[in-house]
Amino acid sequence: MSNPGSIDFHEIAPMLPLIFLAMLSTSPLPFETEPADTVLVRLHELIPELLTDVRYATADNFTGQVLYASDTLRARRFVVEQLARAQEEARRRGLQLKVFDAYRPWSVQKLMWSIVPDERYVADPAKGSRHNRGCALDLTLCDAEGRELDMGTYYDAFVPASAATFTDLPADVLANRRLLQQIMNDAGFDVLPTEWWHFDARGWEQYAILEE
Ligand SMILES: [Zn+2]
Repeated sequence: MSNPGSIDFHEIAPMLPLIFLAMLSTSPLPFETEPADTVLVRLHELIPELLTDVRYATADNFTGQVLYASDTLRARRFVVEQLARAQEEARRRGLQLKVFDAYRPWSVQKLMWSIVPDERYVADPAKGSRHNRGCALDLTLCDAEGRELDMGTYYDAFVPASAATFTDLPADVLANRRLLQQIMNDAGFDVLPTEWWHFDARGWEQYAILEE
């Protein structure tokens, strides 16, 4: 007989899977560690002149709905510092970067998924997007006057030619994509093979999904 007031392991053992599930439901994803330098900062705080075009703050995006309450872009501090280095390199070449998206709250990921539940286009919120971790950037290259270089497709065009690995494109387009990748690679980012505009900061796996 168990002692009233104490917990008998054999009594709670059958409930452990339920207790575990309840713990999972309180956080987006389990088992994540969080390095210390993790605050989100505004991209414009470190790069005041940065060009941006935040389609998700308008209805002009693939969902046809306004998804962001403001067009202020944020990312982890180390990601923005790396982006500042990429911008310096672009400017050294007479060019500049234009950013479309950065940190994306997990609630927006769920909203996107409810509109387009297709993993070819939207990361399943059960897994989370690297944007939800504040470690991904969608961007392109512009000339000094702010005109976008020809990358073959528009940002967020879900067609085969959007793949960074797609090579059946004019030589100048391939050269523009290579230059963007080189600038971003040198600053600590890797391109997503399926989207020429999407870059992940190396080490993104260590950073938790956020809702703030
Ligand atoms: Zn992206």
